[in-house]
Amino acid sequence: MLSTTQTEPTLLEAARNAARRAYCPYSDFPVGAAVDTDLGRFNGCNIENASYGLAVCAERVALFTAVAAGATRIDHLAVSCLKAGDTDPPGSRMPCGACRQVITEFMSPDATVTVDGAGVWRVADLLPQAFQLESKPFLDRAVELSGSARPA
Ligand SMILES: [Zn+2]
Repeated sequence: MLSTTQTEPTLLEAARNAARRAYCPYSDFPVGAAVDTDLGRFNGCNIENASYGLAVCAERVALFTAVAAGATRIDHLAVSCLKAGDTDPPGSRMPCGACRQVITEFMSPDATVTVDGAGVWRVADLLPQAFQLESKPFLDRAVELSGSARPA
């Protein structure tokens, strides 16, 4: 864990605000996330479904929204669980395994993830020895999008 003094309050506040838009009627556990990218800031919240397995976490919504917009560099992610209690274990605030895999796909190993109330971690420390088919295909995407396909 890195020092929490590296926390970027404005990004964390964006994550808290995003959590207020969560659609979580089944868990009643609103989560928000925000990412800073080369194209600016994108937010996400958890979105649940009556078919529970279709729910998507806030972190993935924020990351996928950024990627869909054409972002090619995601520098920092913040996540906030609005209803996490002070006596709940720190793990209850952490990104799940699926999100850690997605974070690893789109963020550099040295990029940081701020978890509200828990701390700041390097991506490489959140998922050591991550599953990867290629070294860094997301970086190759930046080259592909550098032409006319990328939004201005
Ligand atoms: Zn997750």
